This record gives sequence, C-alpha cells and structure tokens, in this order.
Amino acid sequence: MTEKTLFPTIGILGGGQLAQMLALDGYPLGFRFVFFDPTADACAGLVGDLMVADYSNEMALEEFAQKCDFVTYDFENVPVEAAEFVAKRTSIFPHPKVLEIAQDRLKEKLLFKSLSIPIADFHNVDSYSELVFAAKSCGNNGFLKTRRLGYDGKGQHRITENTNLKELWKEVQGGSFVLEHAVDFVREISVIVVRNAQAEIKFYELCENKHKNGILTTTLVPANPSSASGKALEYAQKIANTLSYVGVLVIEMFETQDGLLINEMAPRVHNSGHWSIEGAVTSQFENHLRAGMGLALGSTQMSLGYSAMINWIGEIPKIALNTKEKGIYWHIYGKQERKGRKVGHSTVVADNAEDLHEKVVKLAELLTK
Ligand code: AMP
Repeated sequence: MTEKTLFPTIGILGGGQLAQMLALDGYPLGFRFVFFDPTADACAGLVGDLMVADYSNEMALEEFAQKCDFVTYDFENVPVEAAEFVAKRTSIFPHPKVLEIAQDRLKEKLLFKSLSIPIADFHNVDSYSELVFAAKSCGNNGFLKTRRLGYDGKGQHRITENTNLKELWKEVQGGSFVLEHAVDFVREISVIVVRNAQAEIKFYELCENKHKNGILTTTLVPANPSSASGKALEYAQKIANTLSYVGVLVIEMFETQDGLLINEMAPRVHNSGHWSIEGAVTSQFENHLRAGMGLALGSTQMSLGYSAMINWIGEIPKIALNTKEKGIYWHIYGKQERKGRKVGHSTVVADNAEDLHEKVVKLAELLTK
C-alpha cells in the first residue's frame, strides 16, 4: 500500500467546528486533513492545515484539490461552483447537486413534495404583493425565510398579526423567500442517517431537539418513541436513496398531533449529532468519513444507552476547564465569544434515563456558575 492510500488526505470546504470535529475523529484512522476557508481564524485551523482563500479563487481551489484524495463540506452554503470545480479534480462527497438543492429552500421543498413527504404549507414570495397574499393565507401566523443562505434562524422572520409587512419588506430589501405556515408541533426531532456509495445505510437513534431563537440548544437521545418514529426513518431513507447520497445526512422534522412534517435537510454532519462523539459506538464524524471513502460503516448504536448535548451559545462556561465529572464531556471549539455564536458544547452519557436526567440537571447547574 502506498502512503497515499494508507494515509489519505481529506479536504474540507469550510473550516468551522464541524470540520474541526471531522478531523479530530479522522486522525486516529490515519487520515490527514486540509481545510479551505475564506477567514484566517476559522477554528478548524487549530487542528490542521488551513488554506485561506475565497471560494471563487480558482488557483487556490486547484491547489487544494491537488492536495486531497477526498473532499467534503463543513457547511451547505459552500458555493456550488466551487464544489463542482473541485469535483472535476478529485473525489467529493456528497455530490454537489445535493448542495444545490439544500441551499435553496424552494428546491428542497419541491424535492420533498415529489417524494410525497409531508411539509408545512408554504408560498413563494418574490414581491411585496406576494408577501401580503402569503401572510393572509397563513392567517398572519408564519415564518418568512430567505430561499438561500439562511441558517440557525438567520434570514428568518416571524410573521404575526402585529407584523408590519411594509416595514418588513423594506427591511429585507426584496429578494426571494418562502413563507411557511407556522407549525403547531409537539416536538422537533432529527434523523441522522449515514449511507455509503455501496448503498449501505445506517441510522442513529432519533434525536429530540430544542431550539431558542432558531438556534439548537439541546438534544436528547433517544427521543421517546412515538407512532411517528417509523415514518421518520422511512422518509430519511427515501431522501438518502433518491439522492444516491454518500455521507451523513440529517433530516429535521416537526412532530405534530397529526404526524410528521419535514422542515429541512442538512447534507453534512449536524449539531444534533454532536452527542455521538461519546454517546455512540461510532460518531457521526467518523461515519461521514467512512461513508465518503467507501469504507464499511461503523455501528451507530448508543455507547451507554442514553445521551444529551447542550450547546454553548455566545459564551464558554467559566466552569468548563475546572470541572471533570463522570459522564460529562466538554468541547471548546476555540472560537472567539460572540452573541449567538456556537462556541462549544457539552455531552452527557448515561446508562439509564434517570441517570441522564440527573447528569443533565447537574450540568445545567454547572453551566450557570
Ligand atoms: P430552520 O432555520 O428552518 O431550521 O428553523 C429554525 C427553527 O425555527 C426550527 O427548528 C423551529 O424551532 C423554528 N421554525 C422554523 N420554521 C417553523 C415553522 N414553519 N413553524 C414553527 N416553527 C418553525
């Protein structure tokens, strides 16, 4: 075996915490990493080679592609043109066509519709008069979302009867949107599925997620089973197979009294899967790499039975480096603290639900110190 096949270099477009955690779980397998990001302080640079260049810089992309045996992404808003440029030069996963769909809420919704997968009612909004019509149709109870480049609640506006639509249209300065009817959900769940090119497919336990201001705050695993659980896996599998998907794919869903509605998909490792670093036999990060490189997928079973993840948003808890409790783990990404920014997370693992609850309460206490 040559050094190249024994120690392949994996390139990651985007150098945030997801790229960082992919590398941290790939190093024990002998993989090497190069990251590509327009910002010089991208936190993946703390754990590997960081190329700093704009995604439109073809010379830099050429050099990056030459260095890499495989390339993947750390976020779905990597320009499709950059992904396609790299795809012509080396192996890339998932396919750039999946990025193209995931970057555009309308295309994503049309995909789900074509598969008869239920979604919230929505309207296209490209003009003020369409906004007025859509707001009326949802009874002034909805979410206006940018079609492109929205994430973590960014590019999203709540529509209520108190919303001044004229002001809002001025504020967003036109553009292309979808207006979704507000969903009265019982809970939010996500399905983490991993699929390789040989069509081997595995699921992690269902995750139950809590959000605040559009940002994930907590994940509990496994979500209590419900009558909708089987459907959740069925929908995720249908989407992954239709896209001939390679890697980790995450589908976010609303569970309502009447069943599931799909919210969106992330063609990458996902915040609601961070618990899997300690909470599963094989983390989402390792399995994403395994899938992309055509290796056998690792077991997705829980390592102890129960797990939880709490995000640190804006601030790193002061207690983090001074405490070490059994079953509680800290992850500090090395990013500067900033309002609304994900700067780290804690994972909790336990072998029964009561213990998990106790540890989460303990952790919540620690985090407020
Ligand atoms: P998104 O950026 O689409 O993932 O939305 C972020 C969060 O906002 C979701 O996880 C929900 O908590 C909330 N949200 C988004 N769309 C809707 C909707 N149509 N109905 C109710 N809540 C929503």
